[in-house]
Amino acid sequence: MTTTADTAPGRRAAGVHWDLSPVIADPDEARRRLEAGLARARAFEGTYRGALAGIDAPGLAAALEELAAIDNELSRVSSYAHLRESVDVSSQENKDLSAAVDRGLVEAANALRFFDLEWIALPEDRARELHDAPDVARDRHYLIALRRFAPHTLSEPEERMLAERGPAAVNAWQTLFGQITSTLEVPFDAGEGEEPHTIDRLLAHVRDPDRELRRRALETLYDTLGPHADTLAHCYDTLVGDRLAMDRLRGYAAPMDPTHLRNELPGPVVERMLDAVERHYGIAHRWFRVKAGILGIERLELHDQYAPIGEGRAVDYSEARRLIDESFGRFSPRIASLAGGFFDERRIDAEPRAGKRGGAFCAPVAQDASPYVLMNFTDRMDDVMTLAHELGHGMHFALASEEQTPLSAGTGLALAEVPSTFAELLAFDHLMATEADAATRRALVSERVEGSFATVFRQTVLTRYEQRAYAMRAEGSALTPERLSEIWFEENRKYYGDSLALPEGYRLGWSYIPHFISTRFYTYAYVFAHLSTLALYARYRERGEDFVGDYIGFLAAGGSAGPTELLGALGVDVEDPDVWEPGFQEMERMVEVAEAG
Ligand SMILES: [Zn+2]
Repeated sequence: MTTTADTAPGRRAAGVHWDLSPVIADPDEARRRLEAGLARARAFEGTYRGALAGIDAPGLAAALEELAAIDNELSRVSSYAHLRESVDVSSQENKDLSAAVDRGLVEAANALRFFDLEWIALPEDRARELHDAPDVARDRHYLIALRRFAPHTLSEPEERMLAERGPAAVNAWQTLFGQITSTLEVPFDAGEGEEPHTIDRLLAHVRDPDRELRRRALETLYDTLGPHADTLAHCYDTLVGDRLAMDRLRGYAAPMDPTHLRNELPGPVVERMLDAVERHYGIAHRWFRVKAGILGIERLELHDQYAPIGEGRAVDYSEARRLIDESFGRFSPRIASLAGGFFDERRIDAEPRAGKRGGAFCAPVAQDASPYVLMNFTDRMDDVMTLAHELGHGMHFALASEEQTPLSAGTGLALAEVPSTFAELLAFDHLMATEADAATRRALVSERVEGSFATVFRQTVLTRYEQRAYAMRAEGSALTPERLSEIWFEENRKYYGDSLALPEGYRLGWSYIPHFISTRFYTYAYVFAHLSTLALYARYRERGEDFVGDYIGFLAAGGSAGPTELLGALGVDVEDPDVWEPGFQEMERMVEVAEAG
């Protein structure tokens, strides 16, 4: 019987591979186009270096047009190389092409860097006159946004010195951290004899149905991290110290200011949002008690947090496509037909196979090319949600590139995950309304609830932890493992309350999280995006059809304005202290559904 199912067409999306030929024909063409793009970048430097101080509006428009064309061409070439490599990571030809592209991109960035610096260096009144000119209206926001770092940019020789010192002063600590955390391996028996386990492999067991295995995996993880805690803390301590020193030199008043500026979000808006999230930790406590009941245990322990609640039914790839089509079609035929294009034009690579990378992503490719999706389809209902998520990104890329220039199409981190999360909500609502199998509905709800918690609650905990670490370091205390463990545990305790027991080993939970090391306060943007999406979805429930056109306009606007303005146009006012309430109500509603289910 199983043999029949195994060989039935479409199992695990068999044969669903993408066709990259519309992007670029072959690696030879990619190399030719890379060289041509680089030549254009060098020519651009030859023409415009030193020219911005005296440029007029039509001249600036011409320069931007050429810059956008170069950006677009190099984006196409690098997407092609990385898409090829992602489905065949061990091919030498692919590795060579990626390496050549990466070198080329560094060279292009070096050739083009002067443009941003000269633009930033213009006096304010002159810059305003230029960016307000009708000739450059489509890139107005891009030009303004470039200058937001102007007050914190040092003189050119100072910036050059800092850049030259970067590899030893900053990157070396990040590399050391990365080397330790990515090469840590420990023998672990997950039921099939001892095998070497990395951190990621140990963590993957937290979703295993076997409770004892989950517990042992986490315990092993913390035991393994223990001997490295001093070094990992030292990497962090050095980086935080360096960032605080840079803040003084660059004139930032508070450690979060550079991040707020990058995200184009006002600090008080973010702080109010984090406060609101903390006030709603009770939603999580309620869910943890419900889940303990479902699992038949007294109280959840940390290793039960992501325990699966039953198995949903199998869904094959053609059914997944139908479900996506229905979910999006109910919202807007336009959105459904854009999604259909991914399937019809073979812009999805869905079959898991040897040599293909794991996970899922959507690549925008280029303004004059269509986006592509990679995923690993395993016939689970959750894969339908992943597909919806990535196609949500796809809608955004496709619509924004229709209306925006290559320089203004992309959004920052604060909004990047809005269209993907919104698309998941569309799919979720449709599945909940139509799915007949109760076990599948229950698995769907719990995955959704826990996904929301992992984004909204946990990322808030991470942000609070970082805030305290920076404050501690600013007051002159070194960030030792003991101190970091203390604040980490306290912030986590606030979240979990007494609804979930934390093991002693979890004190080292801070030690392997890469975001703290790579980019400070990176994670609050996820909270912002998720809550914004829930708020938008609440608007959609209220306004129905009326909302759809505005939402498509929002997608097509890409990065042509900041998050505050773009969300404001959809009736979500981030300055309103109650703006996140509908989002929390939405989360509460899901917990109720799970409770009843
Ligand atoms: Zn995403």
